[in-house]
Amino acid sequence: MKKVKANIVIVGGGIAGLWMLNRLNKKYSVVLIENEALGSGQTLYSQGLILPRSQEVGDVTGRRIQKVWRDCLNGFGDVDLRTSKIISDAQTLVASKGVLARMSNFMKSFKYKHLEDVEVYQEPTIPVEKEGQFYQLKADVLDMRSVLESLAKHHMRDIYKADIEEYLHEGTKLKALKLKQGGHHVVVESDVFIFTAGKGNLRALQELGIKRPQKMTKEQTSLMVKSVPFALNGAYTLSNGENMYVSSHASSEGGYIWYISGPWLNKLAETDLDRIRKMKQIVKDTFSDISFEECLWSAVHYAVPQQEDWATTKRHKVYYSGNSVVAWPANLTTVPLLADEIVTWAKSSVKKPLVQDLDLGFPQASYGLYPWESPERNWHR
Ligand SMILES: Cc1cc2nc3c(=O)[nH]c(=O)nc-3n(C[C@H](O)[C@H](O)[C@H](O)COP(=O)(O)OP(=O)(O)OC[C@H]3O[C@@H](n4cnc5c(N)ncnc54)[C@H](O)[C@@H]3O)c2cc1C
Repeated sequence: MKKVKANIVIVGGGIAGLWMLNRLNKKYSVVLIENEALGSGQTLYSQGLILPRSQEVGDVTGRRIQKVWRDCLNGFGDVDLRTSKIISDAQTLVASKGVLARMSNFMKSFKYKHLEDVEVYQEPTIPVEKEGQFYQLKADVLDMRSVLESLAKHHMRDIYKADIEEYLHEGTKLKALKLKQGGHHVVVESDVFIFTAGKGNLRALQELGIKRPQKMTKEQTSLMVKSVPFALNGAYTLSNGENMYVSSHASSEGGYIWYISGPWLNKLAETDLDRIRKMKQIVKDTFSDISFEECLWSAVHYAVPQQEDWATTKRHKVYYSGNSVVAWPANLTTVPLLADEIVTWAKSSVKKPLVQDLDLGFPQASYGLYPWESPERNWHR
């Protein structure tokens, strides 16, 4: 069986794994293993809102994260995102009808004061209810597939599609991973193993003997609506004060696809059809001039990683075990902070940088689809 030696193996090709690959493979021999498609975990299911929340990271860090992303997008940051597409350079904070919604929206605008600019919209460019109160936030919304492409395209020969067949230990240390794809098997020994596999991190924790929380994933639902005549990107406060997040994507069939998410959508109703029915009413009430009658709706289900204390900490999670680390970002916005921490650790853990290119002989991983691109999706009027 083929055996290769690397400095660093990264498991998981979402935003976190690819960001770290870019930071590390200038000096070390690094391979990234993805068992499905790049971004097919949470990253392509996200809204792409770059939104450092001060209550999670503090004002100073929030401003710094925003600058890190801007620098990367302009080509002078830690990673080169010059070919990534910005869907919008501003996010709208819009409130549904009702006093509570407007109050919550106002409070939200306050929370984001640490970002560059928050303006009250004087001349609305979206057809929101006339007495609606809304804000514009100078914060980017990114097309996440183009971000993944910027991160992966120069490193494709180090990114492989393969499954982990076995974890090979030497004493308490992880020595190698036995990988497989089709009938082909390869053992990759490495100085350091970085697991950024989203919900796939569960098995790594088990294999590394790291005590894990009882419940690792939680089910969530998002809604999509297509052929909307205008774009909305940002946060949407409902009349009960709850939040939803929206991103808008130009559709080849005309108009925009709105992608709507937020934990609250699960509570909205028991079934997808009821969720869609209630959501139709909500958007109709807020955007009273627009008809959503001709639009098509669909629900998306997925599992997000969850840890016992996530609800309160909202910080990225990192578990170290010898030469291995298992990590989750709190959200994609804070991936640069997570990468800083792990890159520093990895550099200090690799004793002798190897310069050779590795060839595992597996196929390259391809890019995943956005949820609205899936050919099997059911759409409802
Ligand atoms: C609906 C939704 C909206 C969101 N919106 C935002 C937002 O607007 N702004 C924001 O900052 N954050 C947002 N987030 C959060 C953000 O998407 C995630 O925090 C981030 O994408 C996580 O990235 P990741 O690389 O850790 O994980 P993932 O993107 O899940 O990547 C993990 C990868 O590992 C692979 N994998 C799994 N198991 C294995 C294995 N055994 N071997 C090899 N590969 C494996 C998976 O296939 C996957 O590609 C949102 C999340 C959701 C669900």
